[in-house]
Amino acid sequence: MSLEKTRGIVLRSTSLGEADLLILLLTETGKKEKFIFKGLRKSKTRPKLAGEPGSFIEIDYYFHRNKDVFNAKEFSLLERFSRAKENYLGYLTLSFLLELNDKFLPGEENPIAFLLLKKALSALDEFGFQHILLPYYKWRFLLFQGFVSDEFNCTQCNSPLEGEEFASLQSDSLHIHCKKCSVSLENQIQIVKLLKAISSKKYSRIREEEIPLLLISSLDHILNHFFLANFSIELRSPELLYQSMANEKLELETTGESHERAGNFKIESFGDHNSKN
Ligand SMILES: [Zn+2]
Repeated sequence: MSLEKTRGIVLRSTSLGEADLLILLLTETGKKEKFIFKGLRKSKTRPKLAGEPGSFIEIDYYFHRNKDVFNAKEFSLLERFSRAKENYLGYLTLSFLLELNDKFLPGEENPIAFLLLKKALSALDEFGFQHILLPYYKWRFLLFQGFVSDEFNCTQCNSPLEGEEFASLQSDSLHIHCKKCSVSLENQIQIVKLLKAISSKKYSRIREEEIPLLLISSLDHILNHFFLANFSIELRSPELLYQSMANEKLELETTGESHERAGNFKIESFGDHNSKN
């Protein structure tokens, strides 16, 4: 047994008995580890918010080689992302991001998993809810794990789509096809351009662009479809999130007017190779 220190974001937190708390932490190294906070729920002196889902915390714990749940000795709250949680949509988005990591992330060592989540929570905290965060996060989440590529060539013939006027995107595979290889007649070049922009631009940049809601929403739905089609895991959080977005009119409205607006959307993402940062 040795005393170790780790930092990470609380993905899930469950009551154990009357006073204890079991938490699942996404650590800075990208691993998912379980810790027990003894007596936290009844303590008057310990930082209760450190056990709250979405909190960024530091833990001193007793490491045992043969255990997969560790007892925390000390823990402290580094960041709570309070403003993200004050707004209802922000809170629901935060819950969704945590659940996505809880259920889909394999938990192998990969610091990008942690950085991506921490940056998303910071963005929610700083800028509030923005619809673009959802497809941005989902695509980046798939990208760093190698489920998708940021090459943007036709999956079939490998020809580059840069400068093309037509592309189709298959929602069950996220394969992109050029006009010659596409079996679908639906032109989704704007969605593909948005994906390209998401792959190459920082969130702080893309959030400032005027991207039609319909386009963001269409991409978001395609990504949701991909998750559903490829991972047989059900998430609980999206239902409430999308319901609330619909109430705030942030959801896909398939009216002719918005289709037109999406069609006029121009995004300078192809040929913008140097902006990857
Ligand atoms: Zn092709």
